[in-house]
Formats: sequence, structure tokens, C-alpha cells
Amino acid sequence: MNRIYLDHAATTPTDPLVVEAMKPFFTEMYGNPSSVHSCGSEARASVEEARSILADSLGCRAEEIYFTSGGTESDNLALKGIAWASNSGGNHIITSAVEHHAVLEPCEFLEKRGFHITRLPVDAEGLVDPAEVKSAIRAGTILISIMHANNEIGVIQPIKEIAERAREKNIPFHVDAVQTFGHLAINVDEMGIDLLSVSAHKLYGPKGVGALYVRRGTRIESLLHGGSQEKGLRASTENVPSIVGFGRAVEIAARGMGDENSHLRTLQQKMIRCILDNIPRSRLNGHANNRLPSNVNVSFQGVSAEAVLLGLDLEGIAASSGSACTTGVLEPSHVLLALGLSKKSAEGSLRFTMGRNTTEAEIDTLLDVLPGIVERLRSVSPLY
Ligand code: PLP
Repeated sequence: MNRIYLDHAATTPTDPLVVEAMKPFFTEMYGNPSSVHSCGSEARASVEEARSILADSLGCRAEEIYFTSGGTESDNLALKGIAWASNSGGNHIITSAVEHHAVLEPCEFLEKRGFHITRLPVDAEGLVDPAEVKSAIRAGTILISIMHANNEIGVIQPIKEIAERAREKNIPFHVDAVQTFGHLAINVDEMGIDLLSVSAHKLYGPKGVGALYVRRGTRIESLLHGGSQEKGLRASTENVPSIVGFGRAVEIAARGMGDENSHLRTLQQKMIRCILDNIPRSRLNGHANNRLPSNVNVSFQGVSAEAVLLGLDLEGIAASSGSACTTGVLEPSHVLLALGLSKKSAEGSLRFTMGRNTTEAEIDTLLDVLPGIVERLRSVSPLY
């Protein structure tokens, strides 16, 4: 059976050209970038080349890019690093209710250690209001952290407008761009961003490598101590093959972004229209247009998303639900609850995320089987 992969927000397949670029760094150019001999310096040069590729694509200086182990570490470094560097200069952080757990959990961690966290609500379409960001700012606010696009509903936040409010008060602004880097154009200067988290495996790069952009002059503490790598901000021998692969993935993404997005937008509009037209009591979650072209998040009244996922899996289709398995219990998505969905509706929600190789024929297959799966589940549900 040909598998249809509609879970690109979870991770993407590594591009074969990225794998090719990485290969020599395992067996031939395996030097430690910190070593002074030529094996070390060729590895160092390749790491610096990848850093420049990332910097060029974000419109920043190479020395403002710090490689990490992924989006989670970048988010943790941004939040805890700024918090630790604040000393007693303030202890208030503003974020939103729909952030990824890689932002929300460091916030909870800091809260337990005396920091104050404001979690801004979103409207019914998933958007943060920049005016609410402005009114949440107070004496002692040390950081604003709002994501670029949401990983569940794909909604794109008004980053530029929020950045203006942060700038007015001279407060560092962190953006989790894990879902958008390589998919939407980002220029940190034009958008007014001071810290930005990115991750390679969401843009057809390898898993386990990411980066944090930190605007020059921003005060930030390291989380890892033990070496002077990454200018002392992130000790540990660099993951050279993955960093090289990350650079290659960024180059490839930059070239294909425009065509890819118009192809995805066409598929997305077809999918939304057909699902809403053909499946009664279905609804789209998140803003209809102001969302990543790859994302469709829908709720089906009276069914469990997990059961739909199993039905789809039997048809060879991989998607995902909004629920997270915490302590062995399925919890409805905090993002969908923040939009105002009931627990029941959130539990009947699915996320389909397309990628650069998704074809119209694959979407047609999904649209053929999905109504039947939902109908069958509803026909046996005592709740429906
Ligand atoms: N932030 C967002 C918005 C994400 O979607 C993810 C991953 O799903 C992360 C952070 C964590 O990234 P990583 O898997 O590279 O740790």
C-alpha cells in the first residue's frame, strides 16, 4: 500500500540532497571543529558556512546564529537564558495560551522559581491581539514570547505588530518560528524580532539540530556549561553532519518556497471546501486564510479523533489529532480549548499537514475515504 503522509508539522522526510551533503561528515570530514589541525578546521569551515546560510536567509549576521539540538532547546535557551540574565532587573514574561509546550513548560518552570507569567488569550480564530500585548507590558517585563505560526492550527500571528509594541518599551521579543522557517519568508530586522527559534527537521533537514537567533547586544545566559563552543552560549561539540544538513535544507527551502506555497494553498482550499461540504457537522479550526498553506485542522462532532486516525491509518493515511498523551491519559489540545472549543469538540479534531511532495491525487484519496470513516464511527456512537 502506498502511504499518504499528512503529518508534516510533526516532522518532514529528510531531503535526499540533505543526506548526501551530510554523508562525508560522518566518515571523511569527521574532525572536531575545535581542533587546531586541518581535520578540525575543515569541519569548522563547514559549520561556519551553514551558519552563514541560516543568517542570510534570516537577514542577520552569522555571529547572531547559535546552533542547538532543536526547537525545544532553542525555546528553553531563549526563555531561561533571558530570565537568568535578567538578574533582579525584572521577572515578568508575556506569552500566549497557544504556544508549543517547549515555550509553555519553561514558563511554568520559571513561574515556580518566582517569575510571573502572563499567558495572553487568543480570539476564536486563534490570533493574539497586539493591543493586549501592549497592555500586558509592565515595569519588570523582561521578555515577550509569541510564536510565528501555530503547530496545530497553522494560524500566523501578527508578529510585526507585536514587535512594534515590544520595541516601544525596549523589551526583547522572542518568536518560535519552528513551523515557519523554510516555509515563510522571515527577516528578523524587518519583523522586529530579537530572538528566533528554528528546527531543521520541519524543513526536510535532519532531526536533532536547531538554532537560536539572538540579536547582538541581547543579554542571555547559557544553559549548558563545559566548553566554549557557540561563543560560550552552548557548550558541547557541534553536531557537524546535522548542522551541514541544516544549511543545505535551508538553501533548498529558500529556492522552492514560492511554488511550494501556491501548490499547497490550492490543495488546502480544495480540502477545506470538500470536507466542510461533504461531512455534516464539521468545522474548520483557526483562521480560514491567515494560516500556513500546509495546514487543515478540522473537528467532527460526535467522533473521537483517535478512532478516525486509526481508520485513516488502515487506509494508509497518516495524520494527527490535537490530543496529547500526558500521564497515560489523552488530554484535549490546549490550543483548541484556547479557541473556545469544548472538550468534546477538541477531542474530535484532526490535523492534516501537507508537504512539498503531497499530490492532488493523495488529497483526493483522503477526501474519498474520510466521509465514510466519520459516518461509520457516528453510526456506532451512542453519543451521536
Ligand atoms: N515549537 C514548535 C512550534 C514546534 O512545532 C515544535 C515541534 O513540533 C517545537 C517547538 C519543538 O521542536 P523540536 O522537535 O525540534 O524540539
